[in-house]
Amino acid sequence: MTDAARVEEAIDRLLTEHPPNETAPAEFWGAQYDAGLAWVWHEEGSGGLGVDRSHHPTVMRRLTEGGADTSNRRRNVLGIGMGAGVLSVHGRDEQRQRWLRPMFTMDEIWCQLFSEPGAGSDLADLSTSAVRDGDEWILNGQKVWTTLAHVAKWGLIIARTDPDAQKHRGLTYFVVDMEAEGVEVRPLYQITGEAEFNEVFFSDTRVPDDQRIDDVGAGWRVAMTTLMNERVAIGGTETPRGSGAIAVAVDAYREPGVDDPVLRARLLELWAESEAARLTTIRANETATVGTPGPEGSTGKLSWAELNKEITAFTVELMGLGGTGFPGGYELTRPTGMPDYDPMRAFLRARANSIEGGTSEIMRNIIGERVLGLPGEPRVDKDLPWREVPRS
Ligand SMILES: Cc1cc2nc3c(=O)[nH]c(=O)nc-3n(C[C@H](O)[C@H](O)[C@H](O)COP(=O)(O)OP(=O)(O)OC[C@H]3O[C@@H](n4cnc5c(N)ncnc54)[C@H](O)[C@@H]3O)c2cc1C
Repeated sequence: MTDAARVEEAIDRLLTEHPPNETAPAEFWGAQYDAGLAWVWHEEGSGGLGVDRSHHPTVMRRLTEGGADTSNRRRNVLGIGMGAGVLSVHGRDEQRQRWLRPMFTMDEIWCQLFSEPGAGSDLADLSTSAVRDGDEWILNGQKVWTTLAHVAKWGLIIARTDPDAQKHRGLTYFVVDMEAEGVEVRPLYQITGEAEFNEVFFSDTRVPDDQRIDDVGAGWRVAMTTLMNERVAIGGTETPRGSGAIAVAVDAYREPGVDDPVLRARLLELWAESEAARLTTIRANETATVGTPGPEGSTGKLSWAELNKEITAFTVELMGLGGTGFPGGYELTRPTGMPDYDPMRAFLRARANSIEGGTSEIMRNIIGERVLGLPGEPRVDKDLPWREVPRS
């Protein structure tokens, strides 16, 4: 039987044995995981069938058409979109058994603790320390911009375990229990009024060594896997033609009194760019194999971020005066997932698209250096021990 036929058969069985309209979402997601349809490219027994990632769009399309709820991927995106890829490549079998299923069923939400006040684009400069104490590590430091930390059970964290090593080499990767002693989560108020992300403080927080991912000192390698998966999770989703933000712009254009040749030309231009980005995503997904996505994932992330900013701004412009208010107000709220689409909120939220998951400048650097093979940026601190790198 071909891989494609195996995938189709597994989908047929899942939909027949667990009809989405009669099955609670969490129960369906559990059955989907057990059927190997959570991440088809993972090994069997870890939510996959061991086939190429290029079969994933078929799973998504068939499940959506069959009426299944696929919102877990969006609502637990840091786990399902990134943590799972990390565990599948760098985790040990018992770690996959412990964490993957409750992640997929949304019983346990995940967050990503990478950025710090002094380390964002230059992530390898981070200062949060992990010091070994027998079978445990003691974490101290501050993370920032941590999406969903306020609802997360587990966090993917990278910390410095050897300050005397060169900055990329002295890092180790852990999964930290967000309910452990010494973890403090504080909300950060965003432009939309929501506090979707947070500051997180670690004060002598103990992490068992069996929650370390990969070797001591291998944190940078694991972080790269995380970021490659993140870019695909953000910019690599296949959508139907003319759907999403551009559909909202088209609807806004159809409102009485908006018709104008200049605006129409702009709308068509953005529609064509959306379609080109959509087809590029499909083409990239068709060539995806097992394992971690490559640096070319940055192209999807870059084009999606820039286009989404433009389309959401244009939609608000089409809405005229009606687009200038913000009906929800700016009262501080604590979302637990992505809310329904609202054009004004989307416009404000989209400003972050070219920052989150790596800025557009950094995406261009990656594409230039690692996809096009252009000369790299000068890296003056590359060979210095981290402790000796000057920082403010
Ligand atoms: C909505 C949102 C959610 C986020 N969620 C998370 C999360 O869950 N977990 C997490 O760890 N982080 C998260 N982040 C943080 C995000 O990854 C960082 O903000 C991002 O990597 C940029 O880092 P920085 O903010 O420190 O900016 P800096 O790195 O200080 O960059 C400042 C400016 O300098 C430019 N710049 C920096 N270096 C270069 C260079 N070498 N070449 C050209 N230009 C450069 C940048 O492009 C940017 O314009 C989130 C951010 C946002 C906005």
